[in-house]
Amino acid sequence: MIWRRVIRGLRRIEYYSASRPRTIWAKLDDAALIACLVLALVATWLTHRLIEQPVEPRRMSLVASQAGGGGVVVNEADSDVSPGAFLASIELRQPLSQSGWPAATAVHHTPAEQHIRYADRPFVDDLDDLPTDDPVRQAMTGIITKDDPRWLIAPGDGDATTMRPVGWVLNIGVWCIILLPTALLMLRAVRVGMFTVLYIDDRRRIKRSKENRCPTCGYPLHGLEFSERCPECGELAE
Ligand SMILES: [Zn+2]
Repeated sequence: MIWRRVIRGLRRIEYYSASRPRTIWAKLDDAALIACLVLALVATWLTHRLIEQPVEPRRMSLVASQAGGGGVVVNEADSDVSPGAFLASIELRQPLSQSGWPAATAVHHTPAEQHIRYADRPFVDDLDDLPTDDPVRQAMTGIITKDDPRWLIAPGDGDATTMRPVGWVLNIGVWCIILLPTALLMLRAVRVGMFTVLYIDDRRRIKRSKENRCPTCGYPLHGLEFSERCPECGELAE
């Protein structure tokens, strides 16, 4: 049953893809296809540039501990490993925003907010406020930048934006799906409208001819059978 339907569908595709006479309408359809592709590209680029909305921020919790050998070990807070004595905890919260519609074409990273709580020292809001030789600072910076260097980007850093190529492809596809049927429908509406106008005009000309009137302006041509042109509008008599 399904096979039969598939074969019928394939035959239909074959029928529609068979070479047709190249009417002006077929050419317009092809032009619409290309125009829609170009417009989809433009729309994707425009939404990439114009639409930017905040998304769920990224978070990471770390714990620094004093290891047996005297070094500092940093682990994610929820990991089961807990070597040595607690030194400090660090909470990272990174506000994120994304560009594009409907899929994200780029994700923008801002510097992560840092909250460092020491066991034996005052609360610190930025790793940079600690001395550079602070072992906790060194260990934490190491693991954060190793995990993802965008955690600690400075404002104005070039790599704060991550492009999403898949989002670009998806959005171009979505715009094509929106634009193409619209364009084809509009072309058909224009086609129907033109045929209707021509048909009505044709009927009127036939009716006027039968009534021995000028087909163009409707001027009565009684007694003017041998005249070459309509005396009213100058149209050649049929
Ligand atoms: Zn006339």
